[in-house]
Amino acid sequence: MRELLTSLDWTRLGFYKSVLDEAGIASFIRNEHTAQLINVLIGPCQPSLCVVNDDEYDAAMALLQTHHDQTASSGAEWTCAGCGEVNPAEFELCWKCGQVRSEGPQ
Ligand SMILES: [Zn+2]
Repeated sequence: MRELLTSLDWTRLGFYKSVLDEAGIASFIRNEHTAQLINVLIGPCQPSLCVVNDDEYDAAMALLQTHHDQTASSGAEWTCAGCGEVNPAEFELCWKCGQVRSEGPQ
């Protein structure tokens, strides 16, 4: 197990995990279920995205870097017309309900 990145942005962590899933790299989000409680009790404790196999760390980081670069250049988040969920710009489908992105380019 090795930590890839830490963020309080759950949407982003979830997206990066889905990227790794598609690439066949096993990963998980640590502190996923306890972060909110810990925030209340002892202050911020950020969840982290981790790879299961250390051997895949370099490949995973390279993959995330690629997507990070795309994110930086692809503009704003968008709001799903179906459920109101805010999705990262790189999503073509709503990550929550699966509805196709319906907003035009921003
Ligand atoms: Zn939706």
